[in-house]
Amino acid sequence: MSIMTKSLSCADVGTDCSWSTTAETEEELMKKVAQHAKEEHEGMEVTPELVEKIKSNIKEI
Ligand SMILES: [Zn+2]
Repeated sequence: MSIMTKSLSCADVGTDCSWSTTAETEEELMKKVAQHAKEEHEGMEVTPELVEKIKSNIKEI
């Protein structure tokens, strides 16, 4: 069984932030992204639109 690692760069969703993350599942990745947004992008709301944008920018590596 091979596990694809999912990867997301914050800049891919329209910020000028150099943060990126990886996770084994989309669910885990979204948790990390939500945590990052909360800690580093004060006031950034993870709206349904943003979630869609994030999901469409997830890369499998
Ligand atoms: Zn960021």
